[in-house]
Amino acid sequence: MTPEHQTMISAKDLSKYYGSFPAVRDVSFTVPQCQVCAFLGPNGAGKSTTMKLLTGFLAPTSGSVEIAGIDMAHGRLRASERIGYLPENGPLYDEMTPRSALNYLGCARGLSLEQRKNRMNYVAQTCALEEVWNKTIGKLSKGFRQRVGMAQALLHDPDVLILDEPTSGLDPNQLVGIRELIIELGQTKTVLLSTHVLQEVENLCQRVILIDDGQIVCDRPTKEMGDLPSLENEFHKLTNFTV
Ligand code: ADP
Repeated sequence: MTPEHQTMISAKDLSKYYGSFPAVRDVSFTVPQCQVCAFLGPNGAGKSTTMKLLTGFLAPTSGSVEIAGIDMAHGRLRASERIGYLPENGPLYDEMTPRSALNYLGCARGLSLEQRKNRMNYVAQTCALEEVWNKTIGKLSKGFRQRVGMAQALLHDPDVLILDEPTSGLDPNQLVGIRELIIELGQTKTVLLSTHVLQEVENLCQRVILIDDGQIVCDRPTKEMGDLPSLENEFHKLTNFTV
């Protein structure tokens, strides 16, 4: 099997109830290696919940997740080694600096001193963090906090990236940088990203999965969705999505 065809994310009949409320219902899809896939839907559709299920932060009510062939229910630690996750509310560790937080996370991930040095240099440059490297994370702007979150997700060089609104809060220059980075990462990694910006889907993603009311309503290659106005129309048709 060539790397491009290897399944890296597999969600099978995933459901998640919060009490009696079904936030995610019977969601199934797979994403192969080297694909950037958009995960779209209106607010409250179930995107973040699905991402938390995929990363093992939440356990499903029913159904299963495999990451790089590893069953999340039985091999959570091994599966999480393969995943970089940018949660919707950005990075934790507000009282630390990017340098200390990334060093701490690198230790927790079992990276050697040499690996930490290399990877911290890489993410500092790639996520353009040098100027805030020794500043307190809690005092950083939304854009910088978002980039610290990206750095945390990339630190251990995972094969699978699950990015919950990676471009939210970025200014136009930062947007260009992060979008270029996502395209570059997609050459070798599997990326599932949620966004509200349809233009981003058109420019970055080979595939679109649309979720509404906890259920998948569309799963197609982006090129089959047509140009941006057609993409927008399709969303309006399938959901109450407003651009
Ligand atoms: P999205 O990311 O698409 O905006 P979410 O996955 O955050 O959607 O939420 C899906 C639904 O589940 C929403 O109706 C939301 O209010 C509800 N929900 C999310 N988290 C919780 C929670 N911890 N407890 C109860 N309901 C929740």
